[in-house]
Amino acid sequence: MSVFDHPEFDQHEAVHFFHDAATGLRAIIAIHSTALGPGAGGCRRWQYASDDLALTDVLRLSRGMTYKNAIARLPFGGGKAVILASDATPKSPKLFQAFGRLVESLDGRYITAEDVGCSVEDMRHVNEETSHVSGLPKSGDSAGGDPSPVTALGVFLGIQSAVKARLGKESLEGIRVAVQGVGHVGLNLCRLLDEAGAALIVADVNREHLNQASNELPVTVVAPTELLYSDVDVLAPCALGNIFTSATIPKLKATIIAGAANNQLATEADGARLAERNILYAPDYVINAGGIISVAHEYFGDSSADHVQEAVERIPGRLDTIFARSQESGKPTNVIADDVARKIVAEGKNDPGAANAA
Ligand code: NAD
Repeated sequence: MSVFDHPEFDQHEAVHFFHDAATGLRAIIAIHSTALGPGAGGCRRWQYASDDLALTDVLRLSRGMTYKNAIARLPFGGGKAVILASDATPKSPKLFQAFGRLVESLDGRYITAEDVGCSVEDMRHVNEETSHVSGLPKSGDSAGGDPSPVTALGVFLGIQSAVKARLGKESLEGIRVAVQGVGHVGLNLCRLLDEAGAALIVADVNREHLNQASNELPVTVVAPTELLYSDVDVLAPCALGNIFTSATIPKLKATIIAGAANNQLATEADGARLAERNILYAPDYVINAGGIISVAHEYFGDSSADHVQEAVERIPGRLDTIFARSQESGKPTNVIADDVARKIVAEGKNDPGAANAA
């Protein structure tokens, strides 16, 4: 199938396919839009069942980054990279250096950072070949480094906002939350939720991650196949996307969905399916913007952790507006968020350098 005929192709500006013979690296970088600035979004390293699934992922993720950066008021467009992992190409400094050269070849039109399957250390190797990378090791209390604790903070504040909107409660004390995936973001989110008095149910397919969560926190562990259908107030997806479908939505018991995973809805129509069931959905790219906010501050040389925190604290206000507009109009929250994002992109500017802008 041609890329242009792909169902997830949405007027992407560029889709680059790369192969590095020396390391065997295979990667795709998709730049959805540069209307607001260079395409920025993390690099995902994943073993895909097929090349087409990798292409589908990078096309959807890069469009999501356009919308995420627009609503977060960052001077970034939308881009994303996927590295097609295989047993023959294990993680190594050379692999990420090769990826860095690919990023460098795009001459600043794409800025990378870590996503699922990549670490701060990997980005350090990318940085040996290009300056168009963020999420690098940080010093002391400065902003930057691993963006996932900042993502978790934004999701936590977003959950507070959703609980207030849907359940009318100011506190998370006693609120039951199911967290799918206790990796970088999920574990940090669990820590914040536990501190706030929430009751936690967790699942992960990675035994090590699960043990870390259950050794540190009072969590109830359930099988990954059960977690989605737990009898909870809030479901917080913090693993991978395409979770909410015509098959899964009828079986959900949670009344709120608010988590970090990108592309939680399999299709736009699934947002309407959630709304029909009176489940409040916090649009993924609005609630999970903390990481890219951190990445933007670091990239533009604003090393103040306070500035990052202030910018992340604007996430719940944006969600409040989306929830209120959804309530007034009867449109699903994902449709409202997409409309807002497209309008900002059409206006064609987000305050340059002002990762802090309201
Ligand atoms: P991660 O790889 O550190 O954690 C993901 C966890 O989910 C892993 O522990 C993995 O084993 C687990 N998992 C995978 N499939 C699962 C399943 N079916 N059931 C239960 N657990 C499963 O990734 P992360 O950085 O924590 O990111 C999590 C999600 O949040 C991703 O979708 C990512 O794109 C999104 N996100 C992350 C950031 C960030 O700052 N890291 C920012 C925005 C969005």
